[in-house]
Amino acid sequence: MPINPDQQSQIDALRATPRQTLRAVSEGMEKHLYLAHEVLDHGFVRVVDYMGDDAAIVQAARVSYGAGTKATRDDAGLIRYLMRHWHSTPFEMCEVKLHVKLPIFVARQWIRHRTANVNEYSGRYSILDREFYIPAPEHLAAQSRKNHQGRDQVLEGEEAARVLALLKEDADRAYDHYEAMLSDEGQQGLARELARMNLPANIYTQWYWKTDLHNLFHFLRLRADSHAQYEIRVYADAICRIVADWVPHAYAAFEDYRMGGVQLSAKGVDVLQRRLRGETVTQESSGMSKGEWREFAVAWGEAE
Ligand SMILES: Cc1cc2nc3c(=O)[nH]c(=O)nc-3n(C[C@H](O)[C@H](O)[C@H](O)COP(=O)(O)OP(=O)(O)OC[C@H]3O[C@@H](n4cnc5c(N)ncnc54)[C@H](O)[C@@H]3O)c2cc1C
Repeated sequence: MPINPDQQSQIDALRATPRQTLRAVSEGMEKHLYLAHEVLDHGFVRVVDYMGDDAAIVQAARVSYGAGTKATRDDAGLIRYLMRHWHSTPFEMCEVKLHVKLPIFVARQWIRHRTANVNEYSGRYSILDREFYIPAPEHLAAQSRKNHQGRDQVLEGEEAARVLALLKEDADRAYDHYEAMLSDEGQQGLARELARMNLPANIYTQWYWKTDLHNLFHFLRLRADSHAQYEIRVYADAICRIVADWVPHAYAAFEDYRMGGVQLSAKGVDVLQRRLRGETVTQESSGMSKGEWREFAVAWGEAE
């Protein structure tokens, strides 16, 4: 269960007691504040706090005194300019603090993003819940033959059933042993910091994760991308939807230049210019490696 009734009532109580503030408020973000967006089978992501909005980015870029905006159109244009030219510091003026519940193997990928502040639930102090990520059948896929880091067709029939049963059995057995080692009935009871070491990587953990908008965009570009593992991508997708409501102009610029845009090398520019002049350019005459050439072809929709 991502959120239990007690946790939900705490969230409801927070949302039922709004207060007046002089601080910048993003109406889009207010509707997300505190609410848990469910991800995977037991996970969630929710906004605990935030600072700034689209206007704060513009304000910082202009180092202005007031709201810093002339017209919404000007703001959007300036934000697009900043994004296009990699002027990142105005985006760092916005911050977000998230509470995330996620499987440990996802947390290991996530924690690689070092430009954030983290506080994780302590398995030394508390007993972890019996909650394990078990993929939905449509996400139980075979190893990709082409991509060592990817998956292929969905497992079917007997194999799918066997794999699911193994995942569930192993999780249950490990948790039963965890409880048996912790128990102080008729024994001393092993320390929590030691008993946890037999738990599998699909058990859920939780953390508070705070970052600024520039570094969040970097995280989202990498983790909301089709090359990222599905199990982290769904968290990134959920965060993308929140950010789109929080800072709509900045998110639109991010989608356009970072998610949907293509970065060209000097060789790439040269190939395009030669093609526009009518020349037929091959991988050999492009000066690009086979890998680069393949990615170049994918970028222009010439290959998949
Ligand atoms: C699809 C995919 C596959 C991956 N596969 C692997 C893998 O097989 N093995 C593996 O180990 N990792 C893997 N990673 C993780 C990846 O290499 C990065 O560690 C991760 O994406 C975090 O990126 P980052 O360092 O840019 O982010 P952050 O840590 O948030 O840093 C943001 C930026 O800040 C700067 N920065 C931060 N800290 C420092 C520092 N100490 N010194 C200098 N500059 C710094 C850098 O410019 C960096 O780009 C993978 C990531 C993805 C998205």
